[in-house]
Amino acid sequence: MTKIFLSPPHMGGTENQYIQQAFEQNWIAPLGENVDMFETAILDYTAGEHALALSSGTAAIHLALLTMGIGTGDSVFCSTLTFAASANPITYVNATPVFIDSDEETWNMSPEALRLALEDAKTTNNLPKAVIIVHILGLAAKLDKLVAICKEYGVPIIEDAAESLGSTYHGKMTGTFGEMGIFSFNGNKIMTTSGGGMLLTNSNEDREKAFYYATQAKEQAPYYLHLEIGYNYRLSNILAGIGRGQMEVLADHVDKRRAIFDRYSDTLADLEGVSMMPILPDTAPNCWLSAIRLDYSIISKSTKEIVAYMQERDIEARMMWNPLHKQPSFSESRCYQVGEENISEKLFEEVLCLPSGSSMTEAEQARVLEALVEILTA
Ligand SMILES: *Cc1c(COP(=O)(O)O)cnc(C)c1O
Repeated sequence: MTKIFLSPPHMGGTENQYIQQAFEQNWIAPLGENVDMFETAILDYTAGEHALALSSGTAAIHLALLTMGIGTGDSVFCSTLTFAASANPITYVNATPVFIDSDEETWNMSPEALRLALEDAKTTNNLPKAVIIVHILGLAAKLDKLVAICKEYGVPIIEDAAESLGSTYHGKMTGTFGEMGIFSFNGNKIMTTSGGGMLLTNSNEDREKAFYYATQAKEQAPYYLHLEIGYNYRLSNILAGIGRGQMEVLADHVDKRRAIFDRYSDTLADLEGVSMMPILPDTAPNCWLSAIRLDYSIISKSTKEIVAYMQERDIEARMMWNPLHKQPSFSESRCYQVGEENISEKLFEEVLCLPSGSSMTEAEQARVLEALVEILTA
């Protein structure tokens, strides 16, 4: 039996041709046709306006912050239930992260907790310079409310859509709602360039500014002139070739992941003590990962025990992230929540992510379900 991974790369077949092309043209550089065409393909797919291909999603968040002029003394709000890469770049620019709790309906940023935090910041005259809204697992956050609240306080949004490429909210692609949006093409994401990212923005000026920081902050001059510190963050033309090929199969791979979620739902939704991840009305998740939530008044096994059990059967399942405000690396940071109970801490205990790769066979899905039902009903 082969190992079933959580979300392995799934090539479509044409990736190699684009890489080959780059070799033939000797464009083995962080610019070239593949980079341009990859950006165009992302804009076509998302109906975004300007795109900048980068070496990682983390670099994209870093550049979004730099482009917004965020630095020392500033604060930036961020979802607490997310991967550390959402918030790490806040510290790269010497700003202070402030975390916002999740809500039960989306597992993403709670509009009520966000309002509490903004009210508090306003009274101390310390409004954040940006709010980073994450769509975890491909589930759309409550964008209507979150966007309206941020507008009310005049704070721009960076949408961390690293996991939600292809997810829609009211028919519009996630990643296109904020002043800036980012995608990741890391190895385990819904599509991969082996490593890469993309910055999306509606402003050509912001795209140019981000490009400037991504290419060592070179000034227009006949010699090397630098007025600011820059970075080397562009995506290579070789890796962009993988991205071009992946874009041709992305819609199909999203469909496949949705079908896997449906298959899991059919079997698991009827199990007592198990519920599927929540999906807001009028949203369509890309189902990057399918996740379940356990009710410990009925289920006696912890997510940790289930992960270990699956591991023994060569199946990779994963626990939810420990929220960022609980991470030692962010121990100085506070987290805003509504009431006594922190939702993200509960979700950390109760949520389990299941293998969700678009290349999974039906037999492999059956294997996952069989093992899961076994342990859950034991
Ligand atoms: C993967 C990920 C990132 C970082 O993207 P990289 O391309 O790995 O740098 C940021 N935020 C979230 C939510 C992610 O899942």
